[in-house]
Amino acid sequence: MLLYDKIKIFNEEGYKILENYLLDQVTSIRNTFILVDHYTNIHCLPHLISHVKILEKSNIIQIKPGEEEKNIYTCIQIWKQLEKFKANRNSLIINLGGGVITDIGGFVASVFKRGVRFINIPTTLLGMVDASIGYKTGVNLESIKNEIGSFYSPEFLIIDPYFLKTLPEKEFISGKAEMFKHGLIADEKFWIEMKTSTIEDYRKYYYQWGNLIHKSILIKNKIVDKDPKEKGLRKILNFGHTIGHALESYFMNYQKGKLIHGVAIAMGMVYESWLSYKVNGLSINSYQEIKSILSELYPIQNISDLEMDKIFSIMEHDKKNDRNKIQFSLLKKIGTCSYNCQVPTSLIKESFLQI
Ligand code: NAD
Repeated sequence: MLLYDKIKIFNEEGYKILENYLLDQVTSIRNTFILVDHYTNIHCLPHLISHVKILEKSNIIQIKPGEEEKNIYTCIQIWKQLEKFKANRNSLIINLGGGVITDIGGFVASVFKRGVRFINIPTTLLGMVDASIGYKTGVNLESIKNEIGSFYSPEFLIIDPYFLKTLPEKEFISGKAEMFKHGLIADEKFWIEMKTSTIEDYRKYYYQWGNLIHKSILIKNKIVDKDPKEKGLRKILNFGHTIGHALESYFMNYQKGKLIHGVAIAMGMVYESWLSYKVNGLSINSYQEIKSILSELYPIQNISDLEMDKIFSIMEHDKKNDRNKIQFSLLKKIGTCSYNCQVPTSLIKESFLQI
């Protein structure tokens, strides 16, 4: 089944499908677990239950919020809870939260009793357009991002922009970075739409964001369906992430002030756009346009020499590397991206100085 068939875009239809799925004799779901964090328990769970009453009987498993919780110890806590409440192959896990919840919950489901079924209901913008789409699940190994994980498919997912109503602005802006990326790597028209979109009143006009979310999902989905296991084309989704993930790991490890995922990726996209200009044919005008649009919304920071060496050494451990060479996905022009690009070390370091 194509991933797109599994996306039940927008609330009413999706919730009805979920209800039917839970009641269906053939799917034979015996008990349901809803994985939440502190904030999605408060802000999102009541909305879900008000639409799918039968979920009132579910077991709720709550974890602490935040990237620091995305580790194997949290998984162990969840597996213990599942065991305690007698989860088995006829159980269903519903991941209700941002990318941290859908990544951990998907991973937990993929290996518990060799695999139980799960559904994603993303509640952050980033979760809706990116983290819940594309079969990747996983946790961090100390500060190494997504080092442990699996490719595992949800039964389906439900996208409900209503959840944006309570999402903090910094989280909204974080999700927007991945939407910019989708335009930059695969769809110039979408980049133009994103460039002109405003974050003002996103809570009030949450439903209108549904249209952009839908387009963004379609871009990612088309790429993932062509190459689900990331053997080739899917690597273009890593644009901005080779440096972005290293920055995120660095900040998690060495700096108290955590760098939020979308900001790290936005910084990565600016640096990697410069590399695209240097080695992959991106025009200087396009590079400057990308830098100017992203710097308006994201606090792109300077990287000192000392930080640079640490960040570089994190990149050397990136799981996407081939024969110890750091691999980049770089833009050819806005809307077109190449993958498996190698760049001289000196240029990578120079890219950090372009802000
Ligand atoms: P997150 O899950 O940490 O959520 C951010 C914060 O928002 C949390 O405090 C959460 O409690 C709160 N929150 C969530 N929904 C809310 C709502 N509706 N109202 C109020 N508060 C709400 O962060 P995220 O940005 O969604 O996800 C980041 C993670 O996603 C990273 O770990 C990243 O590696 C992962 N990711 C995975 C993939 C993938 O393909 N699997 C792709 C991109 C990102």
